[in-house]
Amino acid sequence: MNDTKQALLADLPHAPGVYIFWGDSSLPLYIGKSVDIRSRVMSHFRQADEAPMMAQTRHIECLLTAGEIGALLLESRLIKNRQPLFNQRLRRAKHLHSWLLRDSATGLVNELVSSAAVAHGQTPHLYGLFASRHAAQDKLRALAADHKLCLATLGLEKTSSRGCFGLQLRQCDGVCVGQELRAKHDQRLQSALLGLQVHVWPYASAIDLVEQSGDWVQKHRIVNWSYLGTWCSKGTVTESMQSTDAATFDADTYAILVKPLLKGEARIEDVSHR
Ligand SMILES: [Zn+2]
Repeated sequence: MNDTKQALLADLPHAPGVYIFWGDSSLPLYIGKSVDIRSRVMSHFRQADEAPMMAQTRHIECLLTAGEIGALLLESRLIKNRQPLFNQRLRRAKHLHSWLLRDSATGLVNELVSSAAVAHGQTPHLYGLFASRHAAQDKLRALAADHKLCLATLGLEKTSSRGCFGLQLRQCDGVCVGQELRAKHDQRLQSALLGLQVHVWPYASAIDLVEQSGDWVQKHRIVNWSYLGTWCSKGTVTESMQSTDAATFDADTYAILVKPLLKGEARIEDVSHR
């Protein structure tokens, strides 16, 4: 190990949190998170394609968290706010687009809706979080190919009396010409979309997600898949708690929290009585 690398690694702990690589500029080079900061940073040194970034690194800052979810939430906020040079730029879409499934007299209807019109996290039967209408349509087209769905029935292709184009290619099971029951087609549509379901916020109000490391406790306040702030037993509030009213659905926070919350893996405290 060379001296520079040794100096950079010197104080890094085997603990969860966020690490920031600083170079000579006032913008960070890179922001990452891990349940074991020291091991993760060492793995950056082993990546040949990351050598240029590591060569520019002068100092590594650590922000410890009491657990993994706290690290994920903090990393997500920091990358958004500080725009590090080497992190992949996430293009922020103004609106999210989703498929909304609803019943009609003829069968399930898939309607393309945006966050300008529906409240994500509060509206059931939404599928997918797409940056554009185009992306939503492309995904449904790909799912249709995998599940032998009818593009005409899905509204992605013009209908004609001779059936959809996919029928000739045997990519459609014939719902458009009455060869397949609509209910069977719709069942496949539902199961095709299942993995993309956007879950409704499962609590009546805000919750605290509690993480603990020894006697150190952090409570992350969340409502409607939106992060409000963190209370810390060491006396520091990481971010001032925003009001619950200002909380709008956040796709990044949703991605971090949906599994731990729905699988019941996280320690939760109800805050509705406060
Ligand atoms: Zn068809």
